[in-house]
Amino acid sequence: TSYGYETVGEGEKQGRVNAVFDRVASRYDLMNDLMSAGLHRVWKDNMVAALNPPRKRGYRALDVAGGTGDIAFRILKSSGGQAHVTVLDVNGAMLAEGQGRADKRGLSDKIDFVEANAEELPFEARSFDAVTIAFGIRNVPRIEVALGEAYRVLRRGGRFLCLEFSRVDVPFLEQAYEQWSFHAIPRIGRLVAGDEEPYRYLVESIRKFPSQGDFASMIERAGFERVRYTNYSGGIAALHSGWKL
Ligand code: SAM
Repeated sequence: TSYGYETVGEGEKQGRVNAVFDRVASRYDLMNDLMSAGLHRVWKDNMVAALNPPRKRGYRALDVAGGTGDIAFRILKSSGGQAHVTVLDVNGAMLAEGQGRADKRGLSDKIDFVEANAEELPFEARSFDAVTIAFGIRNVPRIEVALGEAYRVLRRGGRFLCLEFSRVDVPFLEQAYEQWSFHAIPRIGRLVAGDEEPYRYLVESIRKFPSQGDFASMIERAGFERVRYTNYSGGIAALHSGWKL
């Protein structure tokens, strides 16, 4: 691809990403709240509202790069506890945090946690009604491969939803956002996680991620149909969706 990932090798990229999440797993919510000024909660609520999981038994969702379970818990709640959600993440520390939360909430029988890579999903074809990924695809070295895997494990008629930082399309907001991400986020990283370098890297990865339109085209190339996107907060984040028809 020509999205600038060539500067960092694939293995090195994944290694750096893992180091970031190893370090922040237990303070992950705090980091998110600080870095997005709490907005990530609203965006995630909107994502799950868009998915609108049915309140019926047997509905199966896969949350890729699911981390500590933020999306999974929301899907369960929205389905009235009827759905079953598989949280998949490459980082064991994030999953352990999520598993602890599921146990505490008495939801262990409705969620399972699987340590695996988005580029190589350990599931049979057509296993899920929905595949979601929130703030995860940006971290995956080969995005096309991950999109192809999401498509493979969805049943026909299944839905794909992807929430990710995107391109701000409001001029005033754009400047404020640049200031925020290049100055504030690395500082917050240093204060909370003790190191700003990994956060610089995360900010870089947001800049290098394709625009809303280009990413929509990538989703279509993976086979999805009726691909759409909605900007959140002026494009700071965007929700992309598509169907496997
Ligand atoms: N989805 C959660 C949320 O929105 O709160 C977590 C998002 S967090 C910013 C990104 C997650 O992607 C981390 O938990 C990280 O371990 C995971 N990740 C990074 N590369 C991955 C890969 N190749 N396959 C699966 N998960 C990956």
